[in-house]
This record gives sequence, C-alpha cells and structure tokens, in this order.
Amino acid sequence: MAKTARIVAQGDEITTGATLDTNSAWLAERLFDRGIRVLGTASAPDDLDLLARLLLDSSRDCDLLISTGGLGPTTDDVTTEAVGKALGVPLEERAEALEQIRARFRVIGRPMTPSNRKQALLPRGTALLENPAGTAPGFAVDLGRARAFFFPGPPHELHVMADRHLFPWLQEQGSAPLLRRRFHVCGVGESVLQDRLADLALPAGVRLGYKTWLPFNSILLYGETDAAEPLARAAIEVRARLGEDLLGEDDETLPQVVGRLLLARGWTMALAESCTAGGAAALATEVPGSSAWFKGGVVAYSNDVKTGLLGVPATLLAEHGAVSEECAGAMAEAVRRAAAADVGVSITGIAGPDGGSPQKPVGLVCFGLALPHATSTRTVRFGIRGRDRVRSMAAATALEWLRRKLVARSP
Ligand code: AMP
Ligand code: MG
Repeated sequence: MAKTARIVAQGDEITTGATLDTNSAWLAERLFDRGIRVLGTASAPDDLDLLARLLLDSSRDCDLLISTGGLGPTTDDVTTEAVGKALGVPLEERAEALEQIRARFRVIGRPMTPSNRKQALLPRGTALLENPAGTAPGFAVDLGRARAFFFPGPPHELHVMADRHLFPWLQEQGSAPLLRRRFHVCGVGESVLQDRLADLALPAGVRLGYKTWLPFNSILLYGETDAAEPLARAAIEVRARLGEDLLGEDDETLPQVVGRLLLARGWTMALAESCTAGGAAALATEVPGSSAWFKGGVVAYSNDVKTGLLGVPATLLAEHGAVSEECAGAMAEAVRRAAAADVGVSITGIAGPDGGSPQKPVGLVCFGLALPHATSTRTVRFGIRGRDRVRSMAAATALEWLRRKLVARSP
C-alpha cells in the first residue's frame, strides 16, 4: 500500500519563477486527503542531467513519485528523455501513443504537426496513460523504490489525468482517506485562535492544524478513516470555542454565508467602495445566484464621486476627510437609498503605500453599515503592509462585519 510520495515539478518556467508551481500544491492536497504522506516537493529546470538526477534521488525513499511538466512537443521539454536516462532504457515510438495523439488532433480539428510525433516517444517498458484533455500522453513506470507517474504541465490536463489514472490506482492500492473538517474565521489571528484552543483535549485519533489565508484563518481537524465519531466530538468542541467568530465550515465561504443570512431575512445589500474600488463587490458576487441579495455598488474613489454621485455633503468631507467614520456612514446610507437596498455597506481607507499621515496612517480603513433602522460605523487599523493586502483585508472585513451583525440580530 502506498504511504509516502514525492512530487517533482519540471521546467525552466518553474525554476525561474515565471510560473507558480500550483500543480504540486494541487497534488499535495489530494494526496494528503487520501492518507499519503508527501515527503517533499522539488523542481528542476529543462536540463536532461539535472532532471535525471532529481528523478533518481526522489525515487529512492518513497512509494509514489509524481512528476508534472516537460512532456510538450518542443525541444526544451526533456522529461521523457530524462526518464529514459534514469532507467537506462532507450526511447521508442509507441503506435498506441501516436494513435491517441492523432485522435486528439481529429477532435480539435487541427492538423498534427511533425513535432507532436515526439510526444509518442516513450521510454521502453513504461505504461502509457491516455490524456483526454491534451496532446501529450503520460506514462507510469517503476523507478527506484517508487511507482512513478509522469503527467503534463497544464493544470487542467493534470487534473483530468490524475482523476483518471492516479486516484483510481491509489484506491486499488487500498489507501485509506483521511477525514477532515475545516472551521473558518475572518480577522481573528492565529495566535488568538491558538490561545482559545490551547487546552482543548482532543480525542484519540484526531489531530488539529491551522491554515492562514489572509484575511482568513482555518482550524483543521484530521482523523483516520475510522475516527468519524471522535472527529465529530472534537468538532462540537471547536464550534463552541469559536462561537460567533466561526463564519463557516468546510467549503463554505464568507460571501456564501452573508448571502444566506440576507436571504433568510429577505434583505438585499449594496456597496459604496472607495479604497477597495469594487473588491467587496467582486467578493460578494463570487457566489452563484448572488443577484438574489446583492443589488450593486458604487466605486466612489474620488471626492467628486462621493459628493456628486452619492451625495456625501462637501462640508462633511472638508471637516472630517474622506477617510473618516462620518464619511463612511454617509456613504453607506447614500448607497442604501440609491440602490433601494435593505443594507448599505461602505469602505473608505488608506491602502498605501502613500497617502498616510500620523493621524491617518496607511492601513487605516473606516467602514459604514446602514441597516433599516440604524447606521453604525467603525475604524480598523490593519497592521499589515502591502496595498493589495490592505485592500483584500478591507473588502473581507466589510462582509465579515455585516455577517456578525446579521447573526447577532434575529430576523
Ligand atoms: P510543459 O508540459 O512543461 O510544457 O508545461 C506546459 C504549461 O503548463 C506551462 O507553460 C505552464 O503554463 C503549465 N505548467 C507547467 N508546470 C506547471 C506547474 N508545476 N504548476 C502550474 N502550471 C504548470
Ligand atoms: Mg516545459
């Protein structure tokens, strides 16, 4: 039974930083879910010797080796050659592989080029793996201690091929999937969570982990296949400790939960955004069907638009400035009225890197929340650097604040 794996990502584009290696992350997550321990991930440039060496090194101490990339038709893709070198076997053209490539070109209605013929060359003794999503077939072979799988680099081709060839193989091997529960919070730091859970007594067979994905944090509970009952007990305890900070579980997202809570009241919302310039609206509309509760938004970036389009009084702006709770409150009320929504939410802040002052430093963001009977405002000073991060934190924080308000008041 396969218990350990290594992942190798091939190509100059990975080792030069031009392409982010999302393939390894995608594989690692799915192997983890299936109870396989990944001993390491590595990469090598399009260099025959380096690649062959990495493959040999990586196959010494694990049951499963997965490689992505380097199976293309161009001369810089040398994975197949490297496998031949590592195994000490020649490459040979496979009639079956050639036929699959020809069939693929028939499907996409384009003539096959001579260079695609290279993709039918496989190291002797390897098992061909059909690629229903692209021209490069994959292959599998025993290498060192491992069963080695070679898949193409384009992520959608990898996904289709892993579903078809790798995961069924793992299942045949009898790998036992891990059980996993995830609990998400927004704007509650890892150390705060850690303190809150410090004395949690976990039942035997259940492990706890953390994941930060700004502005969110997740608590993860893992258990072996037979630990469903202890895992459920631990989940009850985690929920109790998180209380209202718990925004959702497993695949639930913040905008989904906000949408559900609004729908439960039959309410709609609208947004007036300055520093996030539509970021909160984009977040809200990630959810399919969000038109049922999201009416729209105004990007009120300049003061002219705040006064002209939203009707924020110029005197208010002159007195308090655009980044102020006064302005945030006025924006929220204005967009609520203008969109004929039940809830108006606003964001105005200083994303940086310039524009900060001692009184209003970079990272300072004011929020407004206009509900049917009351408007509230608040200011948050994000202690993080980076314009993108301040903006994405601000967008999520606005929705999270609304979520908390909706949870706190019964419909
Ligand atoms: P290749 O099969 O090496 O020619 O890769 C083809 C394309 O797949 C590359 O140009 C990238 O866009 C993508 N790709 C290759 N390796 C990876 C990886 N590890 N993660 C994400 N995308 C990749
Ligand atoms: Mg390549």
